[in-house]
Amino acid sequence: MPRKLCIGIIGLGTVGTGLIKILQSPHLRNPLVLDIEIVKVGVKDIKKSREVFFEEDILTTDIKEIINDKRIDVIVELMGGVDLAKDYILESIRSKKSVVTANKAVIARYGQEIFKEANKYGVYVLIEAAVGGGIPIIEPLKKSLGSNKIQKISSIINGTTNYILSKMSKNNAKYEEVLRSAQELGYAEIDPSADVEGHDSADKISILSNLAYGGTINRENIPTDGINNIQQKDIEYSKRFGYSIKLLAISERCGSGFENNKSTEFISTWVGPTLVPKEHPLANVEDVNNAILVEGDPVGEIMLFGPGAGAGATASAVLADILNVFSTIDNKKLDPLLSIKSWQNCQIVDASEIIKKNYLRLICDDSPGVIGKIGKVFGDNNVSIESIIQLEANDNQAEIIVITHQVKNGLITKSLNEIEKINEVKIIASKLSCL
Ligand code: NAP
Repeated sequence: MPRKLCIGIIGLGTVGTGLIKILQSPHLRNPLVLDIEIVKVGVKDIKKSREVFFEEDILTTDIKEIINDKRIDVIVELMGGVDLAKDYILESIRSKKSVVTANKAVIARYGQEIFKEANKYGVYVLIEAAVGGGIPIIEPLKKSLGSNKIQKISSIINGTTNYILSKMSKNNAKYEEVLRSAQELGYAEIDPSADVEGHDSADKISILSNLAYGGTINRENIPTDGINNIQQKDIEYSKRFGYSIKLLAISERCGSGFENNKSTEFISTWVGPTLVPKEHPLANVEDVNNAILVEGDPVGEIMLFGPGAGAGATASAVLADILNVFSTIDNKKLDPLLSIKSWQNCQIVDASEIIKKNYLRLICDDSPGVIGKIGKVFGDNNVSIESIIQLEANDNQAEIIVITHQVKNGLITKSLNEIEKINEVKIIASKLSCL
């Protein structure tokens, strides 16, 4: 092992600063941390005031200078964004440097190309911080759970939306109010769309699925709903019926077969606001925490829980990856348990084929027989109903809550298209998933 591991860091924002703080106070940690040397740190604005200090010449805006620096063993990409970050990652690989990145957006879109290039050049691209912040989930999927056939992953992997839903539930507050306070507290971005529309969770479940099932998942095909249309009424009713609403990201094996003459694993995956029964382990994951429930054969169910974001938690995962590279730096060959390779085709099933329970809230005229008419449409479409309840009739209007049994999405869509045409049905106010 070399005396020092030399790193170049691109990005000195929340996570970059968190990483520097750990590296500048290495005592009481694994002694290897003492042997990590920061050679260069790349930023966009060199004049910005910083919470951490360096010797002269360490900060730079010239990122190519970092990537081409012969002393540097590992590039730590913490700048965010997509296209430029992807280019820097690929250039680092081609200059034979391992890369550690927290960038889920790049890995979800270009992971296949990046890992292929890393394997070709004999370097690692390690991504522990890209999913679940401080929760170690990537390394367990690659190593400790490697003897398992992973059947299903059910997860809460976006802290911002979990915070918003927790506060809406605890304080009986409206979505817009809670989002505003989350932005003031720094838990939500000024442009919150990637979080609240579910795209961040879709990035992360595609990465987890790739590792769990051994094949690349086409991230663009993941059906994704966010929490931006959740109404206080749904939170209130879900509590009344014994559920919590959570933004879940799910992926599950649902069969194997042949597609274009290749053996293929079919995966059902989706992101959406979901009613989770109170006794389910994910129901009690509150605030900015994340949790990932993995079902494997033969291990059974395991759940990893913890802080899904934040400077210290995310930097802890980044540093774990840096130490992983450090511990293998003198090896002649890549460690097959650390590097990422696909071993089969994976294909996402069409959204209409996804099977799940549903929660529906319909606003209807309060007239006799309407429940019967709705029930008949579901019956005609082979949608089996777990419960159908009429609530809060006022101003001649009633709310009807339907919880279905497990059913294909396509049948629900067809039923709702027909239900919309019933005269007494004014609006389909909510359609959420249900565990
Ligand atoms: P951030 O606070 O916005 O910091 C970004 C840093 O990158 C800044 O230091 C910025 O420089 C630098 N930068 C941006 N564009 C650059 C460019 N073109 N050239 C050079 N430097 C550039 O971001 P962050 O929250 O630390 O997130 C970093 C990465 O970690 C992202 O991929 C994010 O998705 C991921 N992540 C973050 C968290 C979290 O809790 N924040 C959790 C998990 C994963 P200046 O300082 O000069 O502006």
